[in-house]
Amino acid sequence: MSEQPLVLHIFTHDMRLSDNSSLFHAAKTGRVWPIFIDDHADDPYPVGGASRWWLYQSLRDLHTRLDGGLSIFTGSMLEVVSDLIARFPIQGVFWNHRYDAYHRRQADSVTELLRQKGIAARSFNGSLLWEPWSVRKDDGTPYKVFTPFYRKGCLKGPTQSRCVESAPSDLHTVPCETLDPGVPLDKAGILPSGDWHQKFEPLWQVGEQAAQTQLQRFLDDGLSDYKKGRDFPAKRHVSMLSPYLRHGNISASQVHEAIGQMPPDVNTDHFCSELGWREFSYYLLYHFQDLPCANLQKKFDRFPWSTNDADLRAWQQGQTGIPIVDAGMRQLWQTGYMHNRLRMIVGSFLVKNLGHHWVEGEKWFRHCLVDHDLASNSASWQWVAGCGTDAAPYFRIFNPVTQGQRFDPTGEFTRKYVPELQHLPDDFLFNPWDAPVLVLQVAEVGLGTNYPRPIVDLKQSREQALEKFKRLSS
Ligand SMILES: Cc1cc2nc3c(=O)[nH]c(=O)nc-3n(C[C@H](O)[C@H](O)[C@H](O)COP(=O)(O)OP(=O)(O)OC[C@H]3O[C@@H](n4cnc5c(N)ncnc54)[C@H](O)[C@@H]3O)c2cc1C
Repeated sequence: MSEQPLVLHIFTHDMRLSDNSSLFHAAKTGRVWPIFIDDHADDPYPVGGASRWWLYQSLRDLHTRLDGGLSIFTGSMLEVVSDLIARFPIQGVFWNHRYDAYHRRQADSVTELLRQKGIAARSFNGSLLWEPWSVRKDDGTPYKVFTPFYRKGCLKGPTQSRCVESAPSDLHTVPCETLDPGVPLDKAGILPSGDWHQKFEPLWQVGEQAAQTQLQRFLDDGLSDYKKGRDFPAKRHVSMLSPYLRHGNISASQVHEAIGQMPPDVNTDHFCSELGWREFSYYLLYHFQDLPCANLQKKFDRFPWSTNDADLRAWQQGQTGIPIVDAGMRQLWQTGYMHNRLRMIVGSFLVKNLGHHWVEGEKWFRHCLVDHDLASNSASWQWVAGCGTDAAPYFRIFNPVTQGQRFDPTGEFTRKYVPELQHLPDDFLFNPWDAPVLVLQVAEVGLGTNYPRPIVDLKQSREQALEKFKRLSS
C-alpha cells in the first residue's frame, strides 16, 4: 500500500484536537504534521502579554496531547511555509479561518504560494457558528444591527462542520523529529518578558480538558441564574469561557451544543445571545476591516479627545479614586480577566468621564486580557464609546456610584480588589468622598494618602462630555 500523503495542519487560534475542522480534514487526507508558527512581527494589533501567556500554556497542552508531536516555528508564515514545502514532500496545507485584515492577507499570500507550487491549500471554519459572509440582509449588504443579524443567523443554524470526536479518530501525526521539530517551546520567545504573568498560574487552568471542565462547572452551577446573575461581579453566574473560546481550547459549536442540551429557558436563551454578540463582533470585523482603529460612526472623528497621560495611567493602574472603576481595573491587572459589567463601567468612565479615545482602552485591554480578542474587544469598545454601528448611545453615561451600589450591593467585589476601603460602611463604599471625616477615620481611609481622591468630578465631567457630544451632533 502506498504511503499516505504528508499534510500540514497549522494551529492558529484553534488550540484543540476535538471539533477542529481543519485538523479533522487533514487527518482524512493523510499523515498530519501539526505545526504552530509564531508570526506577529508585522501584526498591526499584536497580541498582548496576558494572551501570550495563555497561548504559551495552550501550546504546552497541545504538545502534550500530541505526544510531543507539535513543531513550533517563528517568523513570517509565508516564509516558514515556503521553506517547509521546499524541504519536505508536503502535499496539502490546512488551517482554520481568521477574519481580521492582517491574517486574511497572510492566508491569501500562503494560498497563492501553494497554488503556484501545485500544493493543496484548504481552510475551514474553526471558531464561529456562522461564517460572516453567510449572513446578509435581503439586499445582500451586511447587517449593522445585532438583533436582525442574530435572528437571521439562528435561522441558518450553525455552519461550522461538526467533528465531535475527542481527536480525529484517524489522526496519524508524523513524529516531528523525523521532519523538523522547530524551536523548543521555551526558546520560542512566546512567554512575555518579566514576571507579571506568573500570578496567572494559580488562577487559571489552561488547555482543552480545562475548557471542558470550565464548561461543565458553568452548566452545573452558573447557567441556572445566568440572565440575572451575570450582572453581579461577585457572583459565579458567568461562564468565564472567554479565554478558552478566544484561543480555541473549546469551539463555539461545542459550547452552543452543550447549552442546547439543557432545558431551554430565559437563561439558555440569554447565554446563546451572548455567544451571538461574539459572532456579531467577528461579523463586524470581517465586513468593516478598520473596526479596531476607526470610528464606525464617522462623526466621532471630530471628537476632541483628551491627551491627559496622568489620567490614563491612573485608570490603567486602578488609582482613579472611583472605587468600582478601580476594582475592575485591578481585577484586570491581577487576573487577566474583567467581568463584563465592569468592562462597561470602566469603559464608559475612560471614554466619557475622562474623555480619552476608546483606542486607548482597546490597547490596554489588548495588553492585559487573557481573553483579548481583536473582534470582541474592538466592537465592544466602539459599543461603549457610542461610535459603533449598534452602540450604546453616547449620552448614556454610566454613573459608577450607582452602578456599584446596584451591581455590587454587599461590596464584596469592590472590597476584594480595593482593600484600602474594606472597613468603609456600604453607604460610602462607592463614594468615599462623601463620607464624614469621622467615618473615614474609623475605617482607616485617608483620601489622598492611602486611597486617591477622585481624579475627576463625576457630575462635571458628565456634563462636559454631553456638551462636547452636542457640539459634535449640531
Ligand atoms: C470594553 C469591552 C471590551 C471587551 N473585550 C473583550 C475581549 O477582548 N474578548 C472577549 O472575549 N470579550 C470581550 N468583551 C465582551 C465580554 O465582556 C466578555 O466576553 C465576557 O465578559 C467574558 O466573560 P464570560 O466568558 O464569563 O462571559 P459569559 O457571560 O459567560 O458569556 C459567554 C461567552 O459569550 C461571549 N460574549 C459575552 N458577552 C459578549 C460581548 N458583549 N461581546 C462579545 N462576546 C461576548 C464570550 O465569548 C463569552 O465567553 C468586552 C466587553 C467590553 C465592554
